[in-house]
Amino acid sequence: MFILNLKILYMARSDLWLKILEIVQNDIKKAHFITWFQGTAILTNADGKLVVGVPNSFAKDWISAKYSELVFNAAVSFDETVKTIEYEVCSRLSENSFGEGIDVKKSFVSKNEKKVRKVRNQNAVTVSKGANGKVLSQMLNGRYNLKNFVVGNDNRLPHAASVAVSNTPGGIYNPLYVYGGVGLGKTHLLQAIGNTIIRSFPDMIVKYLTAERFVTDVVEAIGRRHMQKFKDQYRNVDVLLVDDIQFFARKNSSQQEFFHTFNALYDHNKQIVITSDRPPSELDDLDDRLKSRFGMGMVVELIAPDFETRVAILKQKCSEFQVLIDPDVIAFIATNVQGSVRGLEGVLRAAIAESQLANRVPTIRSVAEIIQRLNKAQEIIGYDLDKRKGQSVKSIDDVIEIVSDYYDVSLDSIKGKDRHKDIMMPRQICMYLIKNELGDSYEKIGSGFGGRNHTTVMHACNKVSDLLQTNVRLVRDINAIKRDMGL
Ligand code: ADP
Ligand code: MG
Repeated sequence: MFILNLKILYMARSDLWLKILEIVQNDIKKAHFITWFQGTAILTNADGKLVVGVPNSFAKDWISAKYSELVFNAAVSFDETVKTIEYEVCSRLSENSFGEGIDVKKSFVSKNEKKVRKVRNQNAVTVSKGANGKVLSQMLNGRYNLKNFVVGNDNRLPHAASVAVSNTPGGIYNPLYVYGGVGLGKTHLLQAIGNTIIRSFPDMIVKYLTAERFVTDVVEAIGRRHMQKFKDQYRNVDVLLVDDIQFFARKNSSQQEFFHTFNALYDHNKQIVITSDRPPSELDDLDDRLKSRFGMGMVVELIAPDFETRVAILKQKCSEFQVLIDPDVIAFIATNVQGSVRGLEGVLRAAIAESQLANRVPTIRSVAEIIQRLNKAQEIIGYDLDKRKGQSVKSIDDVIEIVSDYYDVSLDSIKGKDRHKDIMMPRQICMYLIKNELGDSYEKIGSGFGGRNHTTVMHACNKVSDLLQTNVRLVRDINAIKRDMGL
């Protein structure tokens, strides 16, 4: 009975939240709506107080600052007993399944349109010989493996197919055709398959190449009349991995040669894996016979990762690069860089490089600047870069605001009496910065912090000065805050 009641209550809450979101979404851009309300839920609704759970503090701050009125008005229109709304970070909502949170993408937004973009052709590498003299592969990059490919909701199938092919080359998924937009992990998967097979089946000959390289080889072979050698080289392999097949468009003699290579390998149950920026049917300017060959096995699409996967990828890269980055900064990058994983990685690398050069930790502000620099046209979500631009920090409250932003503690607690370490330290840092950067007197600072004695302020300033001699983390924090202050 008790459980049943709980269930009914839960249903009532989720119904109410769905109705509220239905209204809210009308006033917010689609992308923003998904970003901020994905995985949210009503946690409790009692005594006039509605408590909304959000997956991270970043979403909490943003929704409270920008959408609280909108949400409140919508809530009151369905339940007039609601007097206030509070937002609470609830970590179980940040899990992939959202727990009780609403999957707004599913509930409100129709499937995203997929875009096919042109892929620039990159590296074609020369054939290298293995220790036993056999052609092993074309310089596979060992960095790519199936374990460091982060699997989220959207790329489960391409990953599973790659695992299957690696376990059983020449099995039922032959050929495997992976397609998707630029920077979404096609080359990563393709090379990971190669690396895995080489490790599991050391006797197999694996050949990785870009389609561009194949074309060059064909042209060269024709020019030097080495066609037979060429054919032998390509038909001798157990696994052929060809990247960016769209490059074959209008290259007729290469297409023809590839067609024969394909058939020869396929007939002997050799594994073929192909990547492309578009599905076989959309490979215009490609021989129909090839198109239908490509579609014979397994065709899977890589699509842009969702927010949770982007966060997971960033965390994975941080551990690969052996750096620790504030979860809020990670969430901020994941929010603002949505298109490709390569873009995500680019911003992360830039943030790490910059922080190492300047000996400071990446902050939301510094990352916002990087994103803006990389893409001037981009609208930054979640941070107002212009907020402090041009207006120098003048008052005690300006400094407190910046420090509270940095340490994610409230203005009131910094000014208040709480003696907890997490509050005390930011408070003392404020006093130190005000003294050193604004040059205010100890007395004035004391009164700016709720009438504190000037000796307390003096003590705080001395303490921070002393710590700066030994505490590297504090040096970085203060450098970062000073930068936020425009110094
Ligand atoms: P594409 O070939 O589709 O243009 P890449 O395979 O070169 O893209 O991927 C671009 C970058 O993003 C690579 O550094 C790759 O390791 C990384 N990447 C892409 N998808 C993932 C993923 N799911 N997990 C981890 N890293 C990924
Ligand atoms: Mg690629």
